[in-house]
Amino acid sequence: MLNAFAGTDAEHRATPVIMSCPLCQTLTSAKANPHYLAELGESVVLLGENQGCPGWCVLIAKDHVEHLAEWPRDRQARLFDDVARVAAAVRAAFPGGGAGGGPVRINYECLGNQVAHVHWHVIPRHADDPTPRQAVWGWTPEQLRGGMTATARVALAVRLAGRLTG
Ligand SMILES: [Zn+2]
Repeated sequence: MLNAFAGTDAEHRATPVIMSCPLCQTLTSAKANPHYLAELGESVVLLGENQGCPGWCVLIAKDHVEHLAEWPRDRQARLFDDVARVAAAVRAAFPGGGAGGGPVRINYECLGNQVAHVHWHVIPRHADDPTPRQAVWGWTPEQLRGGMTATARVALAVRLAGRLTG
């Protein structure tokens, strides 16, 4: 298989799946994930495992790439367009939030420190955020996970998927 995300248009993709990469593994079964949201131009979008910030989404590059700069500029631009689309969907899904609608702030993070396959975290920071001036990475695992029930999480995934694919 040449493409990490089965079923995508592979015309310009030639990056092999890296079997030891957890995100390549996630991509191979992404559509069966109850928190799958959408396939966009260069990424697959999931509602994140952590919902301490409700609406936290993760975009996974469809191909295994460790450094964004390894991609041609047009693919980098399409990936960031995906990121912006997800942020807009998150803001629209929480219309009661900040002054402009939605969460007070959106954090955009592309780290790669733990999994070296380009992925973006789109993290809504809501009005009740306990540390609104800091990144979330200092939170405890319990804070990161949050208290959202499994049912609420699936319902939120459906709501966000509708905004991304509608
Ligand atoms: Zn990978």
